[in-house]
Amino acid sequence: MQLADENQSWPHYYYLCSSLKTPMSEEAKKEEKSLNFIEEIIEKDLRSGKYESIVTRFPPEPNGYLHIGHASSICLNFGLTRKFPGYTNLRFDDTNPTTEETEYVDSIKEDIQWLGFKWENERYASDYFPRLYEFALQLIKKGLAYVDDSTSEEMAALKGTPTEPGRDSPFRNRTVEENLALFAQMKNGEFPDGSRTLRAKIDMGHINMLMRDPVLYRIKHAHHHRTGNEWCIYPMYDFAHGQSDAIEEVTHSICTMEFVPHRELYDWLIAQLGIYPSHQYEFARRNTNYTVTSKRKLLQLVTEKHVSGWDDPRMPTISGMRRRGYTPESIRDFCDRIGVAKRDNLVDIGLLEFSVREHLNKIAHRRMVVFDPVKLIITNYQEPESGKEFLPAENNPEDGNAGERDIPFGREILIERDDFMENPPKKYFRLAPGQMVRLKSAYIIRCEEVIKDSAGQITELHCSYIPESKSGHDTSGIKTKGTLHWVHAGDAIEVEVREYDRLFRVEDPTDEEGDFKEYLNPDSLNIVKGYAEPSLKTAGINDSFQFLRKGYYKLDRDSTVERLVFNRTVTLKDSWARENKQP
Ligand code: ATP
Ligand code: MG
Repeated sequence: MQLADENQSWPHYYYLCSSLKTPMSEEAKKEEKSLNFIEEIIEKDLRSGKYESIVTRFPPEPNGYLHIGHASSICLNFGLTRKFPGYTNLRFDDTNPTTEETEYVDSIKEDIQWLGFKWENERYASDYFPRLYEFALQLIKKGLAYVDDSTSEEMAALKGTPTEPGRDSPFRNRTVEENLALFAQMKNGEFPDGSRTLRAKIDMGHINMLMRDPVLYRIKHAHHHRTGNEWCIYPMYDFAHGQSDAIEEVTHSICTMEFVPHRELYDWLIAQLGIYPSHQYEFARRNTNYTVTSKRKLLQLVTEKHVSGWDDPRMPTISGMRRRGYTPESIRDFCDRIGVAKRDNLVDIGLLEFSVREHLNKIAHRRMVVFDPVKLIITNYQEPESGKEFLPAENNPEDGNAGERDIPFGREILIERDDFMENPPKKYFRLAPGQMVRLKSAYIIRCEEVIKDSAGQITELHCSYIPESKSGHDTSGIKTKGTLHWVHAGDAIEVEVREYDRLFRVEDPTDEEGDFKEYLNPDSLNIVKGYAEPSLKTAGINDSFQFLRKGYYKLDRDSTVERLVFNRTVTLKDSWARENKQP
């Protein structure tokens, strides 16, 4: 499996050819980090010759948009087949007709591709409905499944407890013929929803509750997004998942820890049906703090309008993060850093911010935007007769190929109100009466006079500039400690800037008393005005920007020609890295 964008910077170590006898190249060895426990298992399976190549799958249920937790699973499943020979399928686990929609299928495909991965085959559990039905018949014929007329309450009453065995259903000993006839009637729509189920006949005294005659099929007269009204019986997760894995000859079926108790049933069904022996492996869910990572809960936020939609930039969805300005590289880097573990833990969202800052620092073009302006007049500046003065400014000092843009300069400019202090403390290096600062990419100025209105509010700062101090041609010999961002007053464009904070006030909203929505952060969105340098007029929807001294920003799709809207991806301040040293 290759990354769609062929991005070679992501650590990878291919097995260089399919022959496992071939040792890793020196280069591959150098890049090798310690393997995670799933990679170790696969490495062993390949070395022992159990498999020549592997097959993994990413199996989303199309009942919502993908979130940051899914990104972990995507990076793991697709990452494995980048490192080892083999491929990854995308399989929609669409066995629940009432919650699934084509909109979700489309968004899931878009998000995986955007993250940089390509699947080998696009599959749907619903494609296998006929095969799964055959498998069910096979079990009935072997005396390993029966039709139960019990209601779900009656079934629950006989289920027992973890310490007490369950009891047999009165329908457990139906003959094969009777079961075949009833199951056919179930399929033919002769019974109402919930009136009968097909159950595996295993052991009502089994220590694992999931092995106590689990339900394999239920009746649901519902329209399915792909099969329409063709079926009115639908397989349960446990009957669909492992069997779909086997049909696709998935070698390593990776899921999250809550499926550990299901593994026994997974293996039992494969063994009884004598189909391809896929194996299930589990890793811990990856959830980030100050948010929720459950499609069902995210759906509530959308339908109850706590957010503007699935791609609201505050959402932990991949589409929300994309709109906010996160890059695929930064999300993959985050997933790589948090790694794979067996114990659940809440990952600090600060680590994700760290990853995105790292990447955006490399690629984002620098721009100047003033948020809370005060007018500054350069009293000794003469506008050139030939027109306006334009100053070249580097797009990105981190990237020699990023080029320059020209920014207009003039007698009247805007700076941030809080970059000036009338009575500054010691070691204040910004602007103050009599003090000098450099205007970024322009000149050194000195504050000569402060103009106030009758209420004492500062309305203008009058400054002088040093003509010999032009950036790149500075012969003034003057050293300043402060550099300020600024915009030319006459050319500044007014933009809307949406600043985001954490969506929830508490680290784990699902772990608190009451409804998780009570813990929403009422101040998660703050809309402010900005005065931007005119080059931002041509900003594209996929461009990333650093607004100097402020943070990273991306144009929002709500922008119009008259009004540009920017999302703040993340602030510049790197408090997470400082508090945690290096990750
Ligand atoms: P949700 O509760 O958000 O719907 P889910 O597990 O039901 O999550 P699926 O669509 O069934 O969602 O998940 C597809 C794959 O992604 C599964 O293999 C699942 O284990 C994995 N996955 C889902 N959430 C996480 C998470 N937080 N961390 C790691 N893997 C996850
Ligand atoms: Mg699920």
